[in-house]
Amino acid sequence: MRTVETSITIDAPAQTIWAILDELDAYAEWNKVIPRIAGLTTVGQTLSADIAFTGMPPNPFSPTIMRVVGARELRWFTEVPGEHGYRAEHVFKLSPLGPTQTRLDHSESFEGPLTEMLWPMMDGLGRRDYEQMNLDLKERAEQLARARVRLHPALDGRRDEGPRAGRRYLQCHCDTDPVLVQIEGPVEHTHLCGCSQCWKPQGALLALTAVVASDLHSVTANHDKLSIVDTAANIQRYACSGCGVHMIGLVADPNHHFFGLAFLHPELAGDIAAPRIEWAGFISSLISSGTSPRQLAAVRRALTGTGIEIYDMFSPEIMDLIAWHGVKLRSAEAAKSAARQSGRT
Ligand SMILES: [Zn+2]
Ligand SMILES: [Zn+2]
Repeated sequence: MRTVETSITIDAPAQTIWAILDELDAYAEWNKVIPRIAGLTTVGQTLSADIAFTGMPPNPFSPTIMRVVGARELRWFTEVPGEHGYRAEHVFKLSPLGPTQTRLDHSESFEGPLTEMLWPMMDGLGRRDYEQMNLDLKERAEQLARARVRLHPALDGRRDEGPRAGRRYLQCHCDTDPVLVQIEGPVEHTHLCGCSQCWKPQGALLALTAVVASDLHSVTANHDKLSIVDTAANIQRYACSGCGVHMIGLVADPNHHFFGLAFLHPELAGDIAAPRIEWAGFISSLISSGTSPRQLAAVRRALTGTGIEIYDMFSPEIMDLIAWHGVKLRSAEAAKSAARQSGRT
């Protein structure tokens, strides 16, 4: 067996490098050696690809995925059968050296009758091309990890503490007959949200979302312009039919852990200072609504820079409340069925 071994240190999180390796459709943007590769990176799947060593025409090959360990290892093999054949195993291994630095070990091993004939080429040109591939991957990953991201306009010169209590009006974006929602009390749990359902202002990657006790809100103008975005969702978001802005979100199911809360977007209160942003949630959900996983490191870095804690669901405080709510529901259910049992006997 002969092996071409290369390695490089990249100033980017392993997840960013992985996202580049795993985004086959975008190889043409950075990878001169493998300019085309298509298929699904799942163990057992066979991909369709071209390999193009410097000065040689692109050569089609069909690697089969052998190993996928997310953000750590991608391994495929290619087999050319017969007495002039060979078997090649291509490995990308990522070892995190810290949260923003990763070592890439990139190798290819050859076995079979043609190995000794191939070896001088692979040991020279092949090795140089793989080293160039590493450099191109490093450049792309480091650029992505450093990229500037616009999270939400509320963060541009935001004040840390605004008035939380008092009366305020949320106003939609319509020039005429805007919907007005009166809020009579403190806005709580203000956070940035990456979910696919919260309304976001133009140009914002994240939504700014908060809650108020639902009895403290009332629609005071142009109620008839509101309609529910998705009646099947747990939080029924009422949007203005004129401008599309979500004005208020209410929970219909009395057993739901958020029943009794009204969800709102505090920036709709205009010049009143937004309350302090306590945390950012559902960040990985950005991927389901179109943000590439390779951009997530920059998003997380931008949030960390603002001092806002990042969670991939809710904040620990709310996760604890939700877990406890589940226990309360189950014990209430158990008490009810025990009462039914004793009523029967
Ligand atoms: Zn409107
Ligand atoms: Zn959301």
